[in-house]
Order: sequence, then C-alpha cells, then structure tokens
Amino acid sequence: MMADIPAKPGIPRLHNFVSGSWQPSSAAQTNAVINPATALTIADVPLSTAGEVDAAVQAAHAAYREWSEVAVGDRIQPLFRLKALIEEHLDDLARVITEECGKTLAESVGEIRRGIENIEVASGIPMLMQGVNNENIARGIDEHMFRQPLGVVAAITPFNFPAMIPLWFLPYGVATGNAFILKPSERVPLTSAKLFELIERAGFPKGVLTLLHGGKDVVNALLDHPQVRALSFVGSTPVARSIYERGAKNGKRVQAQGGAKNPAVILPDADLEMAATILTDSAFGCAGQRCLATSVAITVGEARGKFTELMSDMASSRRVGSGLEGGVQMGPVINAQSKTRIEALIAQGVQEGAKAIVDGRGQRVDGFEDGYFVGPTLLDEVNPGGEIAQTEIFGPVLSLMHAATAEDAIRLVNERKFGNQASLFTGSGAAARKFRHEARAGNIGINIGVAAPIAYFPFSGWGDSFFGDLHAQGRHGVEFYTETKVVVERWPREWSRTF
Ligand code: NAD
Repeated sequence: MMADIPAKPGIPRLHNFVSGSWQPSSAAQTNAVINPATALTIADVPLSTAGEVDAAVQAAHAAYREWSEVAVGDRIQPLFRLKALIEEHLDDLARVITEECGKTLAESVGEIRRGIENIEVASGIPMLMQGVNNENIARGIDEHMFRQPLGVVAAITPFNFPAMIPLWFLPYGVATGNAFILKPSERVPLTSAKLFELIERAGFPKGVLTLLHGGKDVVNALLDHPQVRALSFVGSTPVARSIYERGAKNGKRVQAQGGAKNPAVILPDADLEMAATILTDSAFGCAGQRCLATSVAITVGEARGKFTELMSDMASSRRVGSGLEGGVQMGPVINAQSKTRIEALIAQGVQEGAKAIVDGRGQRVDGFEDGYFVGPTLLDEVNPGGEIAQTEIFGPVLSLMHAATAEDAIRLVNERKFGNQASLFTGSGAAARKFRHEARAGNIGINIGVAAPIAYFPFSGWGDSFFGDLHAQGRHGVEFYTETKVVVERWPREWSRTF
C-alpha cells in the first residue's frame, strides 16, 4: 500500500517504495500535501532521513548489478506494460494531478501523454544504446565503443508537472540498465505514488525503481552518497545551480534544469488573432506555472494596438476555477505563499511604472473561497530595465513591452539571463530564420507559444535555465545515463593456424 492512516484521521501518510515494496518512513518530519483549489490537506508526506536514503541506495545498487546483465530487449518489456497501465489509468492519474497541483483535468491529461511519449522513445533503447566501431584502425586492429549503464541514478523533480517530468528521466534511466531513484516534489507526491503503484504491477525487478519521499535533506544525501553516479534535476534556478555545484564537487554527472522568463516577439505581419489566442494559452495555461510559459510579449511597431486589445479581451474572459470542474480554463496556483508572492510582484510591476490593464489580484471563486487563485494579469508598458522584467514570476502574469523595430525586440530577447524559450509570431520566413538563428534560447517557437520538445528531441534550456551539457529526453537521455567504453582489439595469429 502506498499509504496508511496513522496520526491524523482521514489523512493518508505516504510510504516510500524501496526494494520492490511499500515501506513506511521513520521520519519525524512530514509535509502536508494541500489541494490548492480547496486549501484542504489531502495527504502527509514523510521527509525521509539520511539513513533511509542510504538503505535505499544500497538496495538499488544491489538490484543494478543484476539488472545491468539482463538482455537489453528484456529490459524494455516492463516499459511496454507500464505504458499500457498508465493509459488504462489515465483518468485516475489525471485526477490526482489536478487535486494536488491545481491544473485543469485537460492539462493533467496532456502532461501524462507527454510523459508516455518518453516511455515510447525509451522502448527503442536496444537501438538508441548501440555503440560504434571501425575495422582496421591499424592493420589487423579493430576498435569498438560500447555504452554501459552507470549504476544508481536519481531524479529530483518540481511541483508543476508531477507526471511528465519524472517520465522525462525514468524510462531512459532504467532501460539503459541503471537502477533509478525518484525524489518527487514534496508538494505533489501523490502522482508519483500512483505512478509507482503502476510500476509495481509492470514487472520491474525489485529495487530497480525506487520512490523516496522528502525534501532538501534527501536531495543532499543523494548528492553526497558515493554510490549515486548521476543526478537529474528540474526546479528553480538557485537550487539547480547549487545542485550542479555540489554534485560536480562530489564527482557526479549532473543535468540541472532551472527557471525561466520566456519572451515572445509579435511582428506586425503576424496573424494577430492567432498570436493572441496562442499566447493566452502560453501565458495563462497551467496558471502560468510552466517553465515554457510566455511571460513577456514584445510587440513590434504597428502590432501594438490590436495585439494589446486582443490580449486584454482574451485574458479577462478566461474562466478561473477548480480544475476538476468542466469549462474551467485556469486553476489555482500551487500554494498560499505562491499567491502572495505573485500578487506582490504584480504590485511591484505597477510601482515600476507598468499599467495593470487586466489585474488578477484578489481573484475569488464561488464555492472555493479558500483556494489559491490569481486571475490572468496583463501588465502593459513594463520597464525592460525593471525587476519585474527579469524575475521569474511563475504565475498567470504576462508583461507587455513595445519595440520600434525587430532588431530592438531581438536585443530585448537576448538581454535576459534565462534561455529556456523564445518565440516569434510572423508571416515572414526570412524574419523567422533570422530570429531562430539569433535568439539566445535553447527552445525556439515560430508561431508556437509553448515550444516543448517532443520526447525524441532534447529539452534544450540555455543560460540560467540549464546547468550541464546533456539535456533531458531522447538521445541526450541515453548518453547521460551511460558511459562509453572503448575497446581496441588485435588477434595476432593467422586464423588458419588457429585450428
Ligand atoms: P524548487 O526548486 O523549489 O524544487 C524542485 C525540487 O528541488 C523539489 O523536489 C524540492 O524538494 C527540491 N528542493 C527545493 N529546495 C531545495 C534545496 N534548497 N536543496 C535541495 N533540493 C531542494 O522548484 P519548484 O517550485 O518545485 O518548481 C518550479 C520551478 O521549476 C520554476 O522555477 C520553474 O521554472 C522550474 N521548472 C523548470 C523546468 C525546465 O525544464 N527548465 C521545468 C519545470 C519547472
């Protein structure tokens, strides 16, 4: 069982999944998991101890020794079963995501599908993991390169995509022959618990996949554990940077994805109706809590008037409410702290000279008066040099800026420290080509508002949005979770004299 009901009546306390079984944590500290639409506690998650991390890593290491010897074609069989199980339980899983994270059911289903795509790609590991070789690098000498798994690898994930982000890593980590440990966000642990119930049924050998609940102490114990070879991280930039540093200091491989502040440029030749529709979803979808959300829209020349008017209409007519209710287009933000922080940043933007032409502060939803709702917010004439133009708000707030020329707009795009995504809206191929070449971001959208790479492309953050070199997903994932071994080989005797 993924949970039992000890201290507080009706509030399940979650268990870790270690060595193929659900184990209660002895942790004295727990974290309340709160439904952000109702502000009610729905579970208690243990903040596991360093001793529990050590025991889990050792069990994973023992499992890895056997798992890495399993034929590569056999290692992917449980992934096929996992995909089928997730599809069978899609609605249940989506409901859990919405309950603990707040996004709408349609958004929850969407993220599960993006996760499933990674299971599908990782099922091609027998080919993706192939090495390379050459005959006769010198007369009679051949050279081969194999890929071998690392051992125990771990992923630490954020609150905003409780299903998709663990699946950016888990399928590649395990199919390449490693033992994989997931430490999900302590704010949204129920989705991972549900996922691991399905993993338990998919037929992975005991210890190959581990679920460890906790907070930063678990992360530090993983970063310091000598048997953990590699860490994948997704979360805010300050934490990403510190994890990269600590992991590197301890000789580990680390890929750490951080925060974002994504700009979109709207040229006068764009289809402005389409651009506004797409950017409304990009800025306000998932309540703006997407690392690929557009948070700054820069109009060029004449695009300004009509685009601003369209955005203002679309932002103010977006329906805000509980993600479980039909017709709702935007749910709450993750917690009370986040709501307070977002509203304070809106106030700061206004202080810096911006005009709140749509103001989502103080949003109330009938029947959900305690929920953490912030309405869509549109700040016009945001000062490019001000704090609000640079800070990641991570809420439903779109800042508008206006440039005279496309060159000025590209300069604004490239002045940022983050480099997760930049988008252009235009009808011109030449403008699109210039933008995709010059914009300093790892994910570029051309008439696209959320340029999320599909599973067989790397999720290419740049700048302060990423620390490392190999990104999540696809071939990068395979390279990250394997090390190369080169064999140079000579057999000196003539073959005819061998027999
Ligand atoms: P967060 O940094 O607070 O937490 C992420 C994970 O790190 C959690 O599992 C948490 O337990 C752990 N953690 C938190 N503080 C820690 C510390 N001091 N030491 C060690 N571990 C710690 O991030 P969040 O609020 O859960 O997620 C939102 C952030 O994630 C945003 O900044 C968003 O842009 C970013 N994000 C980035 C991407 C991307 O692909 N670049 C994707 C999704 C989210």
